[in-house]
Amino acid sequence: MKKTFAIGGVHPHDSKLSRQSAVEELPLPETVAISMAQHLGAPATPIVAVGDKVLVGQLIAEPSGFVSAPVHSSVSGTVKAIEPRADLAGNPVPHVVIEVEGDAWLPEIDRTPNFVGDMTLSAEQILARIKEAGIVGLGGAAFPTHIKLSPPPGKKAEVLILNGTECEPYLTSDDHIMRDRPDEIAMGAQIMMKALGVGRCYIGIEENKPEAIKAMRIAAIRFGGLEVVRLKKKYPQGGEKQLIDAIIGRRVPSLGLPIDTGAVVQNVGTALAVYEAVQKHKPLIDNMITVTGRCLPVQKNFLVRIGTPFSKLLEAVGGIPENAAKIISGGPMMGKAISNLEATTVKASSAVLVLTEKETKRRPEGPCIRCGKCADACPMGLQPFLLYKLAKMNRPDEMEQEKVFDCIECGCCLYTCPAGIPLLDLIRIGKADVMKIMRSRKK
Ligand code: SF4
Ligand code: SF4
Repeated sequence: MKKTFAIGGVHPHDSKLSRQSAVEELPLPETVAISMAQHLGAPATPIVAVGDKVLVGQLIAEPSGFVSAPVHSSVSGTVKAIEPRADLAGNPVPHVVIEVEGDAWLPEIDRTPNFVGDMTLSAEQILARIKEAGIVGLGGAAFPTHIKLSPPPGKKAEVLILNGTECEPYLTSDDHIMRDRPDEIAMGAQIMMKALGVGRCYIGIEENKPEAIKAMRIAAIRFGGLEVVRLKKKYPQGGEKQLIDAIIGRRVPSLGLPIDTGAVVQNVGTALAVYEAVQKHKPLIDNMITVTGRCLPVQKNFLVRIGTPFSKLLEAVGGIPENAAKIISGGPMMGKAISNLEATTVKASSAVLVLTEKETKRRPEGPCIRCGKCADACPMGLQPFLLYKLAKMNRPDEMEQEKVFDCIECGCCLYTCPAGIPLLDLIRIGKADVMKIMRSRKK
């Protein structure tokens, strides 16, 4: 039986145009610019100097706080600059810029295709290795993985859930890694189960990925405690709260965390990165990125070194077409517009999507017709039309009462509104105001 979450959700066309495109390694750029702020938490602190020679996988920046992550060089070459550079939104962020010379890797990284199934490390040793390798959640949030695998005092993990839903339209990189590297993902799950001290792992995959479901089911048979759960195609199935509801039928309380339900959710890409870190000594230096859009002559999946300019990804599919109107990092529902194509990829980059004007055009805004469609679509059980109204009237106290902080910014309300009201845009602004008030109250 196919499962799904209970409240709301929408069914956009899945547009998986790059489904059948085999993964290609993107040629190395001449220069990479590696961001020091590519994880949730404090930016990392560079430990290299201009003129230093570095190898692939070498540590170039240390974490600078409890919630932070180290950063490693994705190329071999010479450090040319340590300076602020514009990120994809144009904001200045510290980067280490490295001119590429050859492709020399740290000798301890196992680059053979051999599968490593033996693992005798303790939970503490696993967590230390994941931390050292700079692994962060690859499902979008980029939260340091070693912290997520260490439940706070008083909380106990009961189950691990792997997120293989890839519910955002257009994205196909997770689909490909599940089809191509199911054993490594299953082993990554085993390693995380040991770190958490749990005996059960569910792998949630939407029904539109039959090859991935088959491959992961075969891998699950070889490894104990794993079960693949076939899910209905519905957005935002990949939201942590929705996935927990769909798979184990538990609800994360308002203002609560997934661990409150006993579940820890990790992306399948993170499971692969954990395998590579623990079994192959490979830090997080590359990731899979889908480059897609109907206006492109081809749509592809690339293995990309972190710090590669987005412009190089677009060059690899024939350049930016004349009718391109918007370029997005990520999917159409939750992705971020790229205003600077010389910005570089980060650990959590998953896709580059090129849309035409026709595809990005919103309906002309009209008055609310009180149809209630936005409330029906909201997977968090909120009343988006009311939140929008309160945000417009600048009433943060009432927004807080209406639980605006539960909004996961999925865009379902915006997608579904027949009056073309920019619900999420205003809710986001109101939510930020409420968060400010809540933080100052805490202080
Ligand atoms: S963006 Fe927020 S308010 Fe709108 S549907 Fe998603 S969770 Fe609900
Ligand atoms: S979907 Fe749009 S028109 Fe319908 S109630 Fe919500 S805001 Fe109003």
